[in-house]
Amino acid sequence: MTPLYLDCNATTPVDPLVVDAMMPWFREQFGNPHSVNHTFGTDAATAVEEARRSIARLVGADPREIIFTSGATESNNLAIKGAARFERRMRGRRNRVVTLASEHKCVLESVKALAAEGFATDVLPVGTDGMVDIELLSRTLGDDVILVSAMAANNEIGTLHPLSEIGAMTRACGALFHCDAAQATGRIRLDVDAANIDLMSLSGHKVYGPKGIGVLYVRRRPRARIEPLFSGGGQERTLRSGTVPAPLAIGFGKAADLAAAGQEEEAARLNTLAHALMGGLPGVSLNGPPLDRRLPGNLNLAIEGVDAGDLISRVPELAFSTGSACTSAVVEPSYVLRAIGLTPEQAASSVRLGIGRFTTSDDIAFAIDRLAEAINRCRREA
Ligand SMILES: *Cc1c(COP(=O)(O)O)cnc(C)c1O
Repeated sequence: MTPLYLDCNATTPVDPLVVDAMMPWFREQFGNPHSVNHTFGTDAATAVEEARRSIARLVGADPREIIFTSGATESNNLAIKGAARFERRMRGRRNRVVTLASEHKCVLESVKALAAEGFATDVLPVGTDGMVDIELLSRTLGDDVILVSAMAANNEIGTLHPLSEIGAMTRACGALFHCDAAQATGRIRLDVDAANIDLMSLSGHKVYGPKGIGVLYVRRRPRARIEPLFSGGGQERTLRSGTVPAPLAIGFGKAADLAAAGQEEEAARLNTLAHALMGGLPGVSLNGPPLDRRLPGNLNLAIEGVDAGDLISRVPELAFSTGSACTSAVVEPSYVLRAIGLTPEQAASSVRLGIGRFTTSDDIAFAIDRLAEAINRCRREA
């Protein structure tokens, strides 16, 4: 039996239309898109450029501003380290990088790596709904700041940040605004110009595309200058050396087209399903912002009197996750849940459910049935 998949914030199933779009580029059309001497290469290059246009269109960018990477982890590293190291190489007077406590690990670890290189860093606390504290950010910003990194949508608790506000403040102090939009891609409207975003990370596998492909948006006007992470052949406007994986890039392009079509209707549908799922469960409360103000399809529930790991093992028919991140062998309470003020005990009884494109209302009815029974059993036997 295949469990019902309810973990769409960890990854999404690849849309069958995306698989179809990729297959020829694995099989007969396997050319290196950087080979210019034959049609194997030029055909692949043409298709990669079309994919680049699709991804650019999804976020209101120019295709020349889209750099293919291996995923949002690499894009985040490239944006944050790249901006700071460029400033240092140019002997600029700015030396500070600012981010938020609820960011993805790859952002926090990139910032930590910069601290070890001698940059000043600020990791700002967030509110009980995971929101950036705009007042605090405003006080932190100054003419020594190189870059502010703030995510569009949180991967655990679905908080949506006020990007236009952050972007305007960041632009006003002359710093770059980097936005990790891995979760937001295709789920909410993103416009790099409206929000003054200079650098933005997207991931293929969070938007029904393949794993191992992402992009970094790099603004051209005014130009966001960054150092590459890799030395090599100078592909992707010298910012990301290495052969672009044409099948994955083409799949991501198809995924972007599919996400753009009917995005608002899909968001409303996901919201309805999330309401139904939460409403059907006994004695649960929502971690993070209310449903109508969060990432569509994301639920993070504190289930009083229930151990999240215990609950998950009692419902093998459903695939969902704890509110905890596994680091090494020990299960630690999620740092995101801790950052919004949950106690370790509350965090340990929290689960994340991610509803997606292929989740039906029948699926939700099934999930309610299985979960409600298991919650009651956990409580009785606790
Ligand atoms: C998944 C995710 C990432 C990492 O993306 P990969 O493409 O898997 O490297 C980064 N940030 C957020 C918010 C994510 O959800």
